[in-house]
Amino acid sequence: MLVVEDEESYVEALRAGLSREGFSVRIARDGAEAMTMFEAARPDLVLLDLMLPKMSGLEVCRRIRAQANVPIIMVTARDAEIDTVVGLEVGADDYVTKPYRIRELVARMRAVLRRSAGPEAGAVEGVLAVGDVSLDSERHEVTLRGQLVRLPLREFEVLELLMINAGRVVTRDTLIDRVWGGDYVGDTKTLDVHIKRLRAKLEDDPAAPARITTIRGLGYRFEAPRPVS
Ligand code: CA
Repeated sequence: MLVVEDEESYVEALRAGLSREGFSVRIARDGAEAMTMFEAARPDLVLLDLMLPKMSGLEVCRRIRAQANVPIIMVTARDAEIDTVVGLEVGADDYVTKPYRIRELVARMRAVLRRSAGPEAGAVEGVLAVGDVSLDSERHEVTLRGQLVRLPLREFEVLELLMINAGRVVTRDTLIDRVWGGDYVGDTKTLDVHIKRLRAKLEDDPAAPARITTIRGLGYRFEAPRPVS
């Protein structure tokens, strides 16, 4: 994999941490070097810092996307930057904000690698299992820690879409389009109401959701379980 990072403290932590997790790591310290190394080595995953010398992470992301479908995780310095970056639609697969923990990053990396392996990668015989929540698409059943949770059709479909994309942001527009299509009329709060009901049924503390999180200004993410540190 290719790590594009100019901050020395991160470079060292990433080199050590990711090698320990079994990743073969190449480091580029600016945008120009990143493109050279990308073209020479064709890595299977790119971790890309947004703020870089010589060429911004956005430009690097665009140039890589023009050549390849490799999974790209963009690193931003502040949460607020994520909104900007996502709004520009440069084609990154996921985003992390500094400071991050290596274990958290590795979980995200594995998730994007799994997804890039194919759309069916997350599903096993029609049953999606993420953490302690399982969803059976054929039987229309959801369980939480083995206990059946009753969900009306639309709530089920919202959850299904979130779980298929576990670990990744699903935008409000995507949810509305896929679940309601042309039926979503007028009240823009309909989606929020469905999310609220799902949280009431699936969260230990619906006021502080840990499974279905809100990504402000964007949409929602079903959190993939993180390794216990
Ligand atoms: Ca930087």
